[in-house]
Amino acid sequence: MKEITGATRLFGILADPIHHVKTPQRMNEYFTQAGYDGVLVPFHARPGNLAAVLDGLKRLENLGGIIVTVPHKTAILALCDDASQASRKIGAANVVRREPDGRLTAHMLDGEGFVRGLRSCGHDVEGKTAYMAGAGGAANAIAFALVQYGVSSLTIANRTAAKAEDLKSRVLDLYPQARINIGTPDPSGHDIVVNATSLGLKEGDALPLDASRLSASQTVCEVIMQPVETALLHAARERGCTVHYGAPMLACQIELMAEFLGVTAAR
Ligand code: NDP
Repeated sequence: MKEITGATRLFGILADPIHHVKTPQRMNEYFTQAGYDGVLVPFHARPGNLAAVLDGLKRLENLGGIIVTVPHKTAILALCDDASQASRKIGAANVVRREPDGRLTAHMLDGEGFVRGLRSCGHDVEGKTAYMAGAGGAANAIAFALVQYGVSSLTIANRTAAKAEDLKSRVLDLYPQARINIGTPDPSGHDIVVNATSLGLKEGDALPLDASRLSASQTVCEVIMQPVETALLHAARERGCTVHYGAPMLACQIELMAEFLGVTAAR
């Protein structure tokens, strides 16, 4: 482990539970490779203590910022002094920068991480038709990013239809020209198919969409990182589709978060 000194810049990740998070390993590896004198530690914060935890952390002069994950992504927004336009529209944030005067600025990078992850594997979304299962936190961020990066249309399908409708109307508020449809479990006719639900995390989960309707011309994408190959990706591979795993989304977010937190500038 690297030496931590009085000059080391501090970062943290807030989550509940905390044991499963992969960000500390990835970000500390990034710091080492960048030659950056920083350390990111896991903070286990219960939802009821989030405001108090954040209030204490923001008073630390050597704090660079905080990464935020489940279940704090929505609640954190109201506790910050400022927020990017995208995170306000999405209604959630996953990274918070401490400004030199102690103010906190929130931003959401889940969606951009997903799109950059796709690009890093050679799949551009511009001009493509996209189908997304889900309308939760990750899906919200991904929907905004897919439209921002130029999909020709986006179909949103979610178990709770009202949440899909709500997401559609918020995306249209920011991007009035976007073509957004509410879909069924049938993903046929779309270039890119995304599972942005949590279905697939547990063995025996139902599939998030009708995999019998997938065809070889489609790229089928996961946000789930563990298991590496979900039942959906397995079914998609068997049908000849190109598959895209969940890991590049986090890998790309580490770079984006480091940029947002000013880490690259210190290289
Ligand atoms: P949320 O709880 O906000 O949303 C869950 C989504 O899954 C909702 O659309 C929900 O539908 C749907 N869903 C859950 N259970 C069922 C079910 N039984 N049947 C049908 N639909 C269901 O979770 P998040 O959006 O925060 O996380 C979703 C996934 O994204 C997680 O697996 C998480 O690990 C992953 N993720 C991956 C990241 C990465 O870097 N790779 C980053 C962030 C998240 P409904 O609205 O009807 O409840």
